[in-house]
Amino acid sequence: MRPSRNRAWGHPYLLGFIKDFSANLASEGYATLLIGDLAQPRGGPMLSGHRSHQLGLDADIWFRPSPPYQLTREQREEWSAETVVASVNAPWVNERFTAREARMIELAAKDRRIARIFVGAPIKKALCEGTPASDRGWLRKVRPWYGHVYHMHVRLECPVGSLACKDQDPPAFDDGCGEELTSWLKPPKPVKPAPPPKPAVKPKEIMLSELPTECLNVLAAPSRR
Ligand SMILES: [Zn+2]
Repeated sequence: MRPSRNRAWGHPYLLGFIKDFSANLASEGYATLLIGDLAQPRGGPMLSGHRSHQLGLDADIWFRPSPPYQLTREQREEWSAETVVASVNAPWVNERFTAREARMIELAAKDRRIARIFVGAPIKKALCEGTPASDRGWLRKVRPWYGHVYHMHVRLECPVGSLACKDQDPPAFDDGCGEELTSWLKPPKPVKPAPPPKPAVKPKEIMLSELPTECLNVLAAPSRR
């Protein structure tokens, strides 16, 4: 979605995951996926929108189901994502959060390539409540974060053989349905809560000298469109 953003680029490992994931969902009879941002053509930091999405190992996957036909470029540009949460501060999912969206998150979390999934806290709450005691291991990978009520964010583990790629610390070993979730669901205080980790000022441009040396080779490579 949003082809004009030119953020539909990812590591082959990520593209492989997305294709498998979509096929698995379809094989269970569910509508397939609308894919939001991956990364820029050569990865790297963006001046707006994300702190992650730099390695080609992150994807925003919309909750809104794909229709059973190919969207035009115009539709991909203009269609809106739809929230699956009741309202900004209400800790409940709405009628758009169906068995499909719950299964989407479960399927992704059960994929060994996925390290973490970020969803809004009300979504995590719905999953905590709807998952049987016999099969809760996957909940560990699903963690609340600001926003993420229109899409889920998946982060892959480093592909085997990518020696320069460093995995983040693994998520905590519990299912995340206890105190951590409660802290996310507390009603907002009258004072402004701590800001999300987005810079309030215009982000400073990143200098070439601050990037790893491997990036310089990439930037010096001939352009290919
Ligand atoms: Zn994201």
